[in-house]
This record gives sequence, structure tokens and C-alpha cells, in this order.
Amino acid sequence: SALLTISGGGGGGGGGGVGFRGLRKPPLRIVVTGGAGFVGATLVDKLKCARNSVIVVDNFFTGRKENVAHHLRNPRFELIRHDVVEPILLEVDQIYHLACPASPVHYKHNPIKTIKTNVMGTLNMLGLSKRIGARFLLTSTSEVYGDPLEHPQKETYWGNVNPIGVRSCYDEGKRTAETLTMDYHRGADVEVRIARIFNTYGPRMCIDDGRVVSNFVAQALRRQPMTVYGDGKQTRSFQYVSDLVDGLVALMEGDHIGPFNLGNPGEFTMLELAKVVKETIDPSATIEFRPNTADDPHMRKPDITKAKQLLNWEPKISLREGLPLMVTDFRQRVLSEQS
Ligand code: NAD
Ligand code: UDP
Ligand code: UDP
Repeated sequence: SALLTISGGGGGGGGGGVGFRGLRKPPLRIVVTGGAGFVGATLVDKLKCARNSVIVVDNFFTGRKENVAHHLRNPRFELIRHDVVEPILLEVDQIYHLACPASPVHYKHNPIKTIKTNVMGTLNMLGLSKRIGARFLLTSTSEVYGDPLEHPQKETYWGNVNPIGVRSCYDEGKRTAETLTMDYHRGADVEVRIARIFNTYGPRMCIDDGRVVSNFVAQALRRQPMTVYGDGKQTRSFQYVSDLVDGLVALMEGDHIGPFNLGNPGEFTMLELAKVVKETIDPSATIEFRPNTADDPHMRKPDITKAKQLLNWEPKISLREGLPLMVTDFRQRVLSEQS
């Protein structure tokens, strides 16, 4: 079939050529760093639905080969064990840069490695994007807003972040990654996109990664008390993973740099979350209070006006709809660990 296309303009071929109506877009070569992780593997599934070639680059720190095993026989899929802190040579059109542990338990485990991943890893992927003219998308985080003094958070808010605290390797690391991304855009003409992702949950999260949704769900399934840190009145806004990957692709394919908040504005206290998990899994589930961790943000909720207007994106799946989808996956994995 003829793949007649006109260039998308702006170079890089990042968004792919703009196909004439009725003609198919040419397949893209896409790298997903961190593609063996929770969000990355879900993104790879979505990208593989089209005719794209996908290369996953992952060091398997928190990711698992099982997450992408179903693609391994596909000739248009490649899995490379590689640490993004080291340089790499590849020839592709787009780079989704996700490599970085996301759970506080994981990123605090080796904080120096975390900040190296955020700074040197992002630098390498930007250097790669510059050399080959690829479009680069950074998965930043709502943690760049720190313990926010503005609520809900808009992209214009500069944040309230402790530069020397135990979370700094992650939140300051991501802030530096955003700076690098904008400097490569301004200074080296790299086509870039920045997503600020808010708390996301769904199937394939590590069962014991320490994040609140995975903890509560695993605890309720194992008939252990759900551990509420602090007084449980702190809030988060929980987004189902398929909504997030829809937003990431809309951002990559669109014309706007960002940053864009990608999150679900539905806000819950941790006590309310425990109640929803209890109603979904086991009405007899109990809770247990534990001391909170240092520098824990008191509240978090995205203002997604910008993404709605410019990306035509908004989340579709509420917590009460998404949680059962995650529970099905977790139940199977918890049962298999018990047998
Ligand atoms: P995850 O821990 O499941 O996945 C991260 C992946 O990156 C893993 O496969 C891991 O092995 C890989 N990785 C880590 N360090 C690496 C390195 N140095 N070199 C190569 N690979 C490396 O986390 P996730 O939830 O899928 O998060 C993906 C991205 O989204 C991260 O950048 C994270 O900061 C961002 N994010 C996630 C959330 C969320 O709630 N899940 C929220 C905000 C931002
Ligand atoms: N880099 C890479 N792959 C490439 C091109 C660059 O990993 O294809 C790395 C390179 O090793 C360097 C970083 O990206 O550490 C930044 O590259 P850039 O060319 O911007 O800077 P320089 O190498 O001039 O310091
Ligand atoms: N939390 C909790 N119980 C847990 C794990 C976390 O109450 O078992 C709280 C944590 O203190 C924080 C919120 O849940 O206030 C979200 O924590 P998580 O680690 O999921 O993500 P964060 O938004 O802090 O990166």
C-alpha cells in the first residue's frame, strides 16, 4: 500500500507525517524508556495496537520482563536491558522517557541512583533526541509542586519543594529533568513534550511497591489491615492508567509542549480511599494507623483545564470504576503467591 505522506513540518518526524485523509500514517519507530514498568508496559500495549515498531529500554530495577512478555515474539518489538544513566545509540522517531522509579519506597531506596537517573538519564535521552531529530516526551510528576500552597494545582504554579529532604532525589530530580528538557528545546531545537503525571493506579503495579492504592488493595486481599499513614486526612487524586496513556499519546502527537497536568481531579482523603477499597474488596476490612513519612504533601489535585482545551483529553474512569479492574489483576497475583 502506498504510504504517501506530507511532512508534519517542524522537523524530526516526531509526530509522524500528517497523512492525507484516507491514507494511513507511516509506522513510527518509538522508544519507551522504563517500558517494562507499570505505566510503560501499558503504554507499549497501546502503541503496539498501531503498526509502530517499539523498543523498550529498561534496567529492570522496578520493571519486569513479564509486563511485556506478550510482545517478545513480535518482530517489531525489541527489549533492551540498559541503564539510561549510560549513553545509548538508537535510530527512532519518538522517545517516551519514563525510566525512573515512581514509588516513594523505591526512589528512596537508593536516592543517589534516583537523581542520577533523573538528571543523567534525561540528559542522555535528550542528547539522543538531538542527534537523531526525534521528538522527546518527559514523564514528569505532580511532585514538582511539592507540598502545594495552591489548590488545585495549575501548570503555572512553581511549587513548594524541599531541596534537601528525603523526597528531593525524586521531586528536584524531575524539576531538573524539566529544566533540561526546556533547555534542549530552546538551545538545541529538540521537539519536546512534558507531562506532569498525578497519582496513577491500575493492573501491573508492583504488589509491594509501597504506594497507597497497591498497599490497600494487596492488604485487603490478604486480609491484613490497611495501613493509613498519619491521620489519613491528606488527599490525593487517583487516575486510572489507561486514561494516563491516552493523555501521553495525545500529548506526543499534538502540537503543544506543555507542561500538562495529566491526572483525575477526583480528590480523596486516604481514609476515603480505604473506604472505597473496603467496599470494593471486603466489607470486613480494617484499618491501622502508622506514622507518616517526612515531607508528605498534604493535598494534591490537578487542574486539567489546559489539557482539556489543548489536548482535547480528560480522564474517563472514576476510582470506583477503575479499582475493580485493578483488583482482578491483583487477586490473581495474590492467589498465585499463596498457592
Ligand atoms: P515503575 O517503577 O513501575 O516503572 C519505572 C520503570 O523504569 C521500571 O521498569 C524500571 O525498571 C525502569 N527504570 C528505573 N530506573 C531506570 C534506569 N536507570 N534505566 C533504565 N530503566 C530504569 O513506575 P511507573 O509508575 O510506571 O512510572 C513511570 C514514569 O511515570 C516514571 O518516570 C514516574 O516518575 C512517572 N510518574 C508516575 C506516577 C504514578 O503514579 N505511577 C506519577 C507521577 C509520575
Ligand atoms: N547521547 C547518547 N546518545 C546519543 C547522543 C548523545 O546517549 O545518540 C548522550 C551523550 O553521551 C551525552 C548526552 O547524551 O552524555 C548529551 O549529549 P549532547 O550531544 O547534548 O552533549 P555533549 O555530548 O556534547 O556533552
Ligand atoms: N499512604 C498511606 N498508606 C500506605 C502508603 C501510603 O496512608 O500504605 C499515604 C502516604 O503517606 C501519602 C499518600 O498515601 O500521603 C500517597 O502515597 P503514595 O506513596 O502512594 O504516593 P505519593 O503521592 O506520596 O507519591
